[in-house]
Amino acid sequence: MKTYKIAAIPGDGIGAEVVSAGIEVLQALAKRDGSFEFLVDDFDWGGEYYKKHGRMMPGDGLDQIRNHDAILFGSAGHPDIPDHVTLWGLRLAICQPFDQYANVRPTRVLPGITSPLRKVNDKELDWVIVRENSEGEYAGVGGRVHQGSPLEAATDVAMFTRPGVERIMRFAFRLAQTRPRKLLTVVTKSNAQRHAMVMWDEIATEIAREFPDVTWDRMLVDAMTMRMVMRPQSIDTVVATNLHADILSDLAAALSGSLGIAPTANLNPERHYPSMFEPIHGSAFDIMGKGIANPIGTFWSAVMLMEHLDENPAASRLMEAIEQVTADPRFHTPDLGGSATTDDVTAAVIDAIRGANV
Ligand code: NAD
Ligand code: MN
Repeated sequence: MKTYKIAAIPGDGIGAEVVSAGIEVLQALAKRDGSFEFLVDDFDWGGEYYKKHGRMMPGDGLDQIRNHDAILFGSAGHPDIPDHVTLWGLRLAICQPFDQYANVRPTRVLPGITSPLRKVNDKELDWVIVRENSEGEYAGVGGRVHQGSPLEAATDVAMFTRPGVERIMRFAFRLAQTRPRKLLTVVTKSNAQRHAMVMWDEIATEIAREFPDVTWDRMLVDAMTMRMVMRPQSIDTVVATNLHADILSDLAAALSGSLGIAPTANLNPERHYPSMFEPIHGSAFDIMGKGIANPIGTFWSAVMLMEHLDENPAASRLMEAIEQVTADPRFHTPDLGGSATTDDVTAAVIDAIRGANV
């Protein structure tokens, strides 16, 4: 029997609601499979921890999770604490030191779910967005001076390194190569941003030579939003900077029917550190505590976690269970126009995992 150690970090708001649902589903999956088990350690880091200790996670927090096989994360974001404090104090405080430089965000229209784009189905909208997750606009470089004076000034410097761009580009080409269409779109803004984005384009051209079987094209990010809405069928795999892909992937999530179903993997592809899996959405203050958060984004993230552990049959079984449940409108939460609760959806997915036909 294989044992996987999972670090569960629910964080704030609906993060806590969806991560506990995700752990229940993973445990059901292990029970159904029988060849592996999960040992789950829970970490109470986040906004409430901050209120008690003045920091989002303990000083030796990274050491506490360094040897886990994977991290399941909820959300960082608390109504009483500024967002840049919660984000940098927890989510980025894990992603950056663990060098989770590849942020992977699949988008599909799942069975039973209607895209806001008319007539689009899972065959016309089946994308993976690869987001550079370690540098760029979110490198944290910059500063503020003369606060409180009329001369106040501030900078956020987007920092791109050649190794950083090369490795995400190679990752994206490799991923595109594994998908049936072998098609990659490289997104930049290399008309207005004439230094780093031009380097990004040049590196794309260089890396493309290593992947002659992958077709690739280039797009400016503003035009890319239009293409996603007007010609979704023309897109397969996408690679973009930290900021650009952050925005594009929220749009992608909305086009797939709801922010509540979209998953993310923050990968350290070399496996020197644990990778982290989380729904795309945040703490959702407007619905927290109501028991109606859609847990599908977390379940789909759990599929990516299973794939990362190379438990591919179990990953497929979970994805099939998810699709069986989304196909039934009785299990749609309010964000999908239904009236199901988080618990209803969780119970239905667990039933589907146990079911003989899944
Ligand atoms: P959000 O994702 O929390 O919510 C946006 C909207 O989508 C809300 O109306 C919300 O109700 C809805 N929504 C999101 N997830 C849902 C789900 N699972 N089921 C049903 N509806 C869902 O984004 P926001 O409002 O911009 O941010 C709220 C807080 O979360 C902020 O503090 C922000 O910094 C934080 N945040 C954290 C992360 C992260 O930790 N990865 C990501 C995004 C936002
Ligand atoms: Mn985001």
